[in-house]
Amino acid sequence: MDFKVHLSRPDISAAEIDAVCAVLRSPTLSLGPKLDEFEQAFCKYVGRRRAVAVNSGTSGLYLAMKALGIGDGDEVITTPFTFIASATTIMMTGARPVFVDIDPVSLNMDAARIAGAVTERTKAVLPVEVFGNPAGMDAICDAAAVHDLVVVEDSCEGLGSELRGRKVGAFGKVSTFAFYPNKQITTGEGGMILTDDDAVADMCVSLRNQGRGKGGGWLAHERLGYNYRLSDINCALGIVQLSRLEEFVAKRRRVADMYFSRLGDDARLIMPQEPQDSVMSWFVYVVRLADRYTMEQRNTILQKMLGRGVQVSNYFPPVYLQPFMVDAYGWKEGDFPITDAVCRSTMALPFHNNISAGEIDFVCEQLRACLAEVD
Ligand SMILES: *Cc1c(COP(=O)(O)O)cnc(C)c1O
Repeated sequence: MDFKVHLSRPDISAAEIDAVCAVLRSPTLSLGPKLDEFEQAFCKYVGRRRAVAVNSGTSGLYLAMKALGIGDGDEVITTPFTFIASATTIMMTGARPVFVDIDPVSLNMDAARIAGAVTERTKAVLPVEVFGNPAGMDAICDAAAVHDLVVVEDSCEGLGSELRGRKVGAFGKVSTFAFYPNKQITTGEGGMILTDDDAVADMCVSLRNQGRGKGGGWLAHERLGYNYRLSDINCALGIVQLSRLEEFVAKRRRVADMYFSRLGDDARLIMPQEPQDSVMSWFVYVVRLADRYTMEQRNTILQKMLGRGVQVSNYFPPVYLQPFMVDAYGWKEGDFPITDAVCRSTMALPFHNNISAGEIDFVCEQLRACLAEVD
């Protein structure tokens, strides 16, 4: 379908195109100077000692947990209101995802529920700054510390956000970012692992590169590894994108403000909340329908919006109710009631750096018309 207004769009300038072309004219398309430069730029930006670039956020989460020794028989506590990869990467290691319900305002994992989910098999907590919101991350880290659990921060949606002066990506023992084209910055596909722990970083470097060892030969493999490398072409794109992050955060703030000024006083909608003591780097802009609406009505509105040329989405359906999860663990609707209620009501609106005021007006006009039609 050809949409009038798109849900997301990358922001690529001539500088990115020039940087990619320069790599293409060079002799080194992978494991070259741009890889190191991208990793160093990330260390500097987030304020961490080590960065390991990989080919997706999913690969990053998986390698982070492998490097921490998480595997068969372990449990990892995470949120059911996230992108599927937060939970599937736990499953890939052989560990079991254990969900705790969310805070109804921030939509992040509710730190107060962590204690109740801990067993003798629990190894880690994997929180997410969902939609870019860092609220509660400090409380989650404190709760994890009480139970001696390692924090694997899935910061894939929060690049550029801060909580009380601490950048997203600086909370976990290991943290990961993702660079799919709808994220705050993109490399086409890509991801980044961040940590202050040299042993974890060195293990991730080896695992992403076929289990090769430090200083060892190209055909010497110390362990079972993968090819999760990120090419210098992608890294060159990422270096320019990261250098523009401040511009991106400001542009996204402008779009969030435009939505809030147009929809903030509509009692049929629950608007996303800007957390206190934080810098919010908006990933997506998700409004919710008031409690009296049913999921069927929400779905009808989404269909009507699509029909009117406005690309919208139901970020997110509950992770724990995906069919393969139900098959594996036997969860059923109602197990995480706050998540269920939120998931029934969400509508992600078109949101990207360069969306115009006219496009926002059009989206809001269509949304009001669709709301009127279902009432
Ligand atoms: C985007 C995202 C990922 C992983 O992204 P990739 O598509 O694998 O790069 C992981 N977790 C969350 C919460 C995400 O939003």
